[in-house]
Amino acid sequence: MKIIRHLTPSGPAHAALQSDGSARAISGDIYGDFKVTDQVVQPGKLLAPITPTQILCIGLNYAKHAAESGAKVPERPVLFVKGINATQNPGDPIEIPTRLASHEVDYECELAVVIGKACKNVTRDEALNYVLGYTCANDVSARDHQIKLGGGQWCRGKFFDTFAPLGPCLVTTDEITNPNALKIATILNGERVQDWTTSDMIFDVPAIIAYLSGSTTLLPGTVILTGTPQGVGMAVKPNPRWLKAGDTVSIEIENIGTLTNPVINEA
Ligand code: MG
Repeated sequence: MKIIRHLTPSGPAHAALQSDGSARAISGDIYGDFKVTDQVVQPGKLLAPITPTQILCIGLNYAKHAAESGAKVPERPVLFVKGINATQNPGDPIEIPTRLASHEVDYECELAVVIGKACKNVTRDEALNYVLGYTCANDVSARDHQIKLGGGQWCRGKFFDTFAPLGPCLVTTDEITNPNALKIATILNGERVQDWTTSDMIFDVPAIIAYLSGSTTLLPGTVILTGTPQGVGMAVKPNPRWLKAGDTVSIEIENIGTLTNPVINEA
């Protein structure tokens, strides 16, 4: 099932996309009991398909991206976080920070995993039972703050408002049984700048969930960004290609769809 969250006259609501492009209202709690009703709805403005309760991120999870970043292939998953303030809707802008200014804002296409049931200390064999579904994410990164200005922590550069676009829909696990067999790409102003497959993750989705849930509760609504393949703007030679106002960046994942955001300067 493909679930969207959209704006209706009575506020944000979930709906299930039908194969003909129409949508049907969902009643209930997507983390608990819910059902697709017979009520056909005209989708309104698309919102991020879920409101994250937290955003956990895995860094350097593709070998060629680790290499282009000048980093070693990690022996354990590398965890960092983004704030839920960073969540952005499909179609709404990524804002280049101008007050705490960044001059090195970059894109990263990532498969996002949405946890549906609270879990702790799960094995890799049972890990996918706790997943509600998957969506596209852009792990927007201010490299200057991430690498030079953040005191050795990546979080400052990853934490800005609008730096976690999510969408366009949440695809439930009945439609994606293997999250590590999906084509994934970034299209920047019409040019395909990242183009790879989630089969190449160093730590696959079950391994990530098993690791993150170790002695740690993952609440429903936890969004896990699973790392980006090679091709980020930072690694373009001879000069890095940073995002700038006027750009359009799309994240495309097989069987999910395309998440597109314009880029503007923070007002
Ligand atoms: Mg990333």
